[in-house]
Amino acid sequence: MLKTNDFAEADRILVLFTRHFGKVRVVAKGIRRATSRMAGHAEPLTHATYQLARGRELDVLTGAEARAIYPDMRDDLGLIAAGWYVAELVDRFTAERVPSAPLFDLLETSLRRLDAGVPPAVVCRWFDLHLLDRSGFRPELRECAQCRVVLLEETNAWSPEAGGAICARCAATLPFVDPLTVRALKSLRYLLASELAVASQLRVDAALARELDRHLRAFLRFILDRDIATARLLDELRELPRPHAVS
Ligand SMILES: [Zn+2]
Repeated sequence: MLKTNDFAEADRILVLFTRHFGKVRVVAKGIRRATSRMAGHAEPLTHATYQLARGRELDVLTGAEARAIYPDMRDDLGLIAAGWYVAELVDRFTAERVPSAPLFDLLETSLRRLDAGVPPAVVCRWFDLHLLDRSGFRPELRECAQCRVVLLEETNAWSPEAGGAICARCAATLPFVDPLTVRALKSLRYLLASELAVASQLRVDAALARELDRHLRAFLRFILDRDIATARLLDELRELPRPHAVS
């Protein structure tokens, strides 16, 4: 499930992302009552099997059985926010009732890895790149997106408008460019070429994490023509002081 909206007295609209039917909006009647059997199975970021009945406008949820609730994620605000982030992007990149098994697998893999303790800085950037790739917006990382020369191992630049990385010569002709370091370019290539299990081995320090985040966020913002609400939440969580262990 991607998200919920409260509706009527005790009802809730759920936005489900399903393997076979794509994104589906359903109404869960009475789910906000304490006695509802389905409440625990209808939380955001739960992977569940749902039974639906055809309704006049919206289908109606008649049963739910959770298959994965990602227990470790639920204890960590940073992981929950990362889960919300991938769910928001899936929501933004999909239309209702258009099946997309590749995006379903992408979402499921990402949530499972977050729950397994892979850092959000790796999972979210891997997710960004593969979401763009599977949606037809793969950023150019080999050749200059503007003049098509093969990129040299030097500081290049990042240009969402051009479609990805651009060479230093093209960058010099533009009034404002965001530099793309060699290690950031290599990391983007590595993440895009790897399955998440392999990509999880990438070591990302704070400076690299910030650079990758900045470039991919600019790219997503350009494609979507709007900000990603949960990305701001992740920023705020990063600013919070880390809790100290008390001995
Ligand atoms: Zn160029």
